[in-house]
Amino acid sequence: MAKATTARGKAKGKGGKKPSSRPVPKRRAAVAKPKATRKPRAARAKPPQPGYTEPWFEEIVHGLQEGFALYDADGCLVIANDEYRRLHGNVRDMIKPGMRFEDMVRAFFEGGHVPEAIGREEQFIQERLRRHRNPAGSILRRKDDGTCFLIQESRLPGNEIVVTETDVTALTEAQVALSESQQRFQDFAYVGSDWLWEMDALLRFVEFIAEDSTGIALAGLAPGRTHWGLAGVDPAQDANWRDHRDDLLAHREFRDFEYSVDLGESEIRHITVSGLPVFGPDDTFLGYRGTARDITGRIRADQIVNGRNKALELLASGASLDGVLNALVTGMEGAIPEIRCSVLLCTEDGKQLTCGAAPNLPDFYNEAVDGIEIGPTAGCCGAAAYHGERVVSEDILTHPNWDAFREVATRAGLRACWAEPIKSSDGRVLGTFAVYYDRPMRPDKFSLDYATTTAYLAGIAIESKAKEAELVVAKDQAEQANRTKSQFLANMSHELRTPMNAILGFSEAISQEVLGAVSPPKYKEYATDIHRSAEHLLSLLNDILDLSRIEAGKLELGDHEEIDVADLIGDCVVHFREAAYVGDIGIGKDCANDLPDLRGDRRACKQVLFNLLSNAVKFTPQGGRIDVMARHSDNGSLVITVVDTGIGIPANQIEKAMKPFERVENDMVRNAEGTGLGLPIVKSLVGLQGGSLLLESDLGKGTTVTVTFPAERLVSNGGESQSSTG
Ligand code: ATP
Ligand code: MG
Repeated sequence: MAKATTARGKAKGKGGKKPSSRPVPKRRAAVAKPKATRKPRAARAKPPQPGYTEPWFEEIVHGLQEGFALYDADGCLVIANDEYRRLHGNVRDMIKPGMRFEDMVRAFFEGGHVPEAIGREEQFIQERLRRHRNPAGSILRRKDDGTCFLIQESRLPGNEIVVTETDVTALTEAQVALSESQQRFQDFAYVGSDWLWEMDALLRFVEFIAEDSTGIALAGLAPGRTHWGLAGVDPAQDANWRDHRDDLLAHREFRDFEYSVDLGESEIRHITVSGLPVFGPDDTFLGYRGTARDITGRIRADQIVNGRNKALELLASGASLDGVLNALVTGMEGAIPEIRCSVLLCTEDGKQLTCGAAPNLPDFYNEAVDGIEIGPTAGCCGAAAYHGERVVSEDILTHPNWDAFREVATRAGLRACWAEPIKSSDGRVLGTFAVYYDRPMRPDKFSLDYATTTAYLAGIAIESKAKEAELVVAKDQAEQANRTKSQFLANMSHELRTPMNAILGFSEAISQEVLGAVSPPKYKEYATDIHRSAEHLLSLLNDILDLSRIEAGKLELGDHEEIDVADLIGDCVVHFREAAYVGDIGIGKDCANDLPDLRGDRRACKQVLFNLLSNAVKFTPQGGRIDVMARHSDNGSLVITVVDTGIGIPANQIEKAMKPFERVENDMVRNAEGTGLGLPIVKSLVGLQGGSLLLESDLGKGTTVTVTFPAERLVSNGGESQSSTG
């Protein structure tokens, strides 16, 4: 059984080798009894031994490196050497033969030479006298000057007491430094890890030192087992473990090897282990020594984050609500293998719960709870939906909420349950998230945190899917309304075109006096005005009709005409030359000589150029210039550009200008005819022929519209470059 406690904190303190005391010579000589100065004793156990004052004995005593003193049976000093005197500091002068041991001790302690005795001098004196009378063990004494000495005493057969005192200051300091440094390393190891361990040469745990409950449980499992034995895995079946075992067999250092251990009752802990190989003096491998930490908290936090990210990714990728809810349920079941989970959804009237996701609960159970009434005691889910807060049943067998469902829950192997309400962002209950155990259970913090997060995500998923459905309905309605509007405009334009043609014909006939002179002549002028207005109205009707057809997807363009682009541009430029001339605007074209023909609809292409040139002429003030250019680009596409030096469009209005019936607000636009249909028609006609449109504009400087047709729309024919200026 491994130790469950550490030696941490015990390292400081006394220590050190026992210095050996010098043997006292066995030969004894007569010694003169020194005069007793106080309290003469009535009797002595033995007469003083002769010989202690003989020169050879004194010579030996004074030659000793340790302090030495001999006290007779009455406690009076017989002999002491200089080292003994030195070690007694300020009382050294009183140390003379005949001095009473007690007097010296009293003076020593009362002189304040022993810091730890200050204030308790009498206690120390009595203790010292008691030890002197009954020598046993050794005494380590630390003096006020920082020196330390070790006192050892022994009693001679004649009841004399021999005292040796050794200066151990240097030794003690070294030992204190060593134990302090050991303590520091131990402290570092403890701060950086939860547990310390050792393995033998056969890679089996021999020591596992821990103080916390998880560590103590592991310490009970580890001894005699290898890493993989503790984890319950076969290294041959797992690449990670194989590598780790290879490291150990090769006696390599390893760091942060992570694995999980089942402590029993499905309590899984995740740990990380680091180890150093240990070798003997002859380089024999002795085993490993290392640290370990419990990283269950981190791993579980990762699991929660991963589960949440997965659900959010699914939501973002447009997965169905079922898919997202199933992922949430299985995500939590994966993190805590002993549980099963379910999501129930509130019906629209908020009265019942229906099954949302419960892939791992038996079908008969899901069917039994599908449609349960929400109520204060309706199991955990119905009650959680009713109260809007978590409801816990630690034991389904005894909890009153389960009276109606106990039989089916027991049949499904469920013994404990708790349910979190799933809420919308404005606090409405949308459903419940339930966690089930197969044994009586009180929810722990991790499961509660996970379930709360999961319920929160389920709320986001349910709410966003409901909004998505509302949007689809709204979009369908808007599209339907738009189709109705387009249809109405198309019908109306169509109906108006017939009378408009009649107006055009008759007004032209009158203005040209086809059937004879018109009188008075003012009527001829009116007829001309009617004709011009009717032409404008007809062009507007045609635009509306075109756009309606485009929006309804009914405008069909031919794509087999081979259009000579330079020719087409020439026609259009000629058409606008007069208007440009009237407005004092220069107009020109510049077409490359190798232009291929464009395969498309000639009428649509002409309308594109017409609309763009009409804008350029309308929105370019006097003295300006318009150029139409056509180039064959490097990637093989055909690029037609209409450039003007007109009023330009503010950057933030360009998108608006491309929409039907939208015009940019300014004086020049207000004074110019138009309904805001030209550019949207251009965009659609270009798009229908596989091309793209780019409008760039610099306010006050001019506008460039670029129309690009892809290479597959072109038919190469070569030819001369054509350019003209007007
Ligand atoms: P319609 O084309 O239906 O006769 P319109 O010319 O006003 O009317 P569009 O051709 O769609 O409509 O153009 C929309 C708006 O974009 C214009 O009203 C104008 O404000 C702006 N616009 C278009 N072309 C230019 C241009 N070359 N220079 C400056 N503003 C332009
Ligand atoms: Mg226009």
